[in-house]
Amino acid sequence: MFEYAPAPESRSVVDLKPSYGLFIDGTFVDPTDGGSFKSINPASEEVLAEVAEAGAPDVERAVRAARKAYDKVWGPMPGRDRAKYLYRIARLIQERSRELAVLESLDNGKPIRESRDVDLPLVAAHFFYYAGWADKLGHAGFGPNPQPIGVAAQVIPWNFPLLMLAWKIAPALAAGNTVVLKPAETTPLTALLFAEICQQADLPAGVVNILTGAGDTGRALVEHPGVDKVAFTGSTDVGRAIARSVAGTRKKLTLELGGKAANIVFDDAPIDQAVEGIVNGIFFNQGHVCCAGSRLLVQENVADRVLESLKRRMAQLRVGDPLDKNTDVGAINSAAQLERIRELSDAGSAEGAERWSPPCELPDRGFWFAPTIFTGVTQAHRIAREEIFGPVLSVLTFRTPAEAVEKANNTPYGLSAGIWTDKGSRILWMADRLRAGVVWANTFNKFDPTSPFGGYKESGYGREGGRHGLEGYLNV
Ligand code: NAD
Repeated sequence: MFEYAPAPESRSVVDLKPSYGLFIDGTFVDPTDGGSFKSINPASEEVLAEVAEAGAPDVERAVRAARKAYDKVWGPMPGRDRAKYLYRIARLIQERSRELAVLESLDNGKPIRESRDVDLPLVAAHFFYYAGWADKLGHAGFGPNPQPIGVAAQVIPWNFPLLMLAWKIAPALAAGNTVVLKPAETTPLTALLFAEICQQADLPAGVVNILTGAGDTGRALVEHPGVDKVAFTGSTDVGRAIARSVAGTRKKLTLELGGKAANIVFDDAPIDQAVEGIVNGIFFNQGHVCCAGSRLLVQENVADRVLESLKRRMAQLRVGDPLDKNTDVGAINSAAQLERIRELSDAGSAEGAERWSPPCELPDRGFWFAPTIFTGVTQAHRIAREEIFGPVLSVLTFRTPAEAVEKANNTPYGLSAGIWTDKGSRILWMADRLRAGVVWANTFNKFDPTSPFGGYKESGYGREGGRHGLEGYLNV
């Protein structure tokens, strides 16, 4: 193992305020009943800021502001003018990307290498991409003159705080809607910096409103009768509750929920590349990825070779300070999430699977979990069925392509899958049969604003990204 000198990114680029208000109607305001909560750095447990907690009166204010902006400014505005604002936001994100990346790593715990090189470029790309659609909606395949829906309530999780914001806000605004967005309670800070960017871009007041708070704020927002569209990304349980509350109303709904993706390695795959893909599939972003390749299905005759290589590669992963540019695996986002990962991993051992982690020293403070694999996993094990949402891989084996398909599809989820093989015909054969919204071949966790992303079954419905991502924000 090589020793590297620490190479921390400076946090001086971020100007953290001690406290943050709610962003309603173009300005930061205090919450009506004065509630607040703390956002902490999961790598150190340091309090980063005190953040306002929005209650029902604040939801009312924000929805009213969004409605007014929709009726008076944003709805009537020609697409080519909306596009200018989106391009301006995209450019400001690029200009301030270092600041946004450092803040994202501080608040979320993800390695700076990922926030800097993956999250932020994709966030800007999303705004650029949808800016291009704003004056071409009649060519998106939804009729000659598709109309926006109105006010969108958007609730997002903590694993990609800014990227999920971009996935929600960019298509909504391009299509002519206004939004009220609630970031997750453990990662509110980059959404508030994004609110400052909206001010800097002179975005008309009320087009984007940001309400911080926890589940109660989210519930009040999605249940508000003044909302026309609900877009949610997060856990399947909360998604189900939202689907129930929206049922029977005129609200349009899209849900992006959990996953338990199979990453399938055939014996003719280039093993070294496949091992990189396995590592990227499950240890990228600490495994806090809904489409993570959390089940490795490896062909039996190469299983020993793949596992030996995988263990050697895992021993090279550097776990630690998210702001250090050498870090591969950062902090677990919260104490609660760490507890969930521990509970499910302990269940894996108790059910008889064999657990392995490379030797690695974890910091004393903060929330950490060593990269872990379980071998000898059967399909009945909880670690093969439930979403762990952490750096934990369950390894199963198969003999034939048909068995691989059957095992891959044996899950209540259907978000993504990966196939590693030398044969193009096998890729197509498998992709036809896998019940997953996204299938990657000889790669994994590749995202692009032009391609639709979304799930089958309990992974939700609706698509984000691409032309398809506009559909959820248009009356078609
Ligand atoms: P969650 O579903 O509880 O939270 C996601 C968002 O929904 C947050 O903003 C939260 O405040 C909000 N929320 C919570 N209850 C709500 C309600 N009743 N009505 C409206 N909004 C509500 O997810 P979590 O607690 O952050 O994580 C739990 C599990 O969810 C994870 O272990 C993981 O399995 C899964 N998850 C999936 C994704 C994904 O991208 N698919 C992302 C994060 C978490």
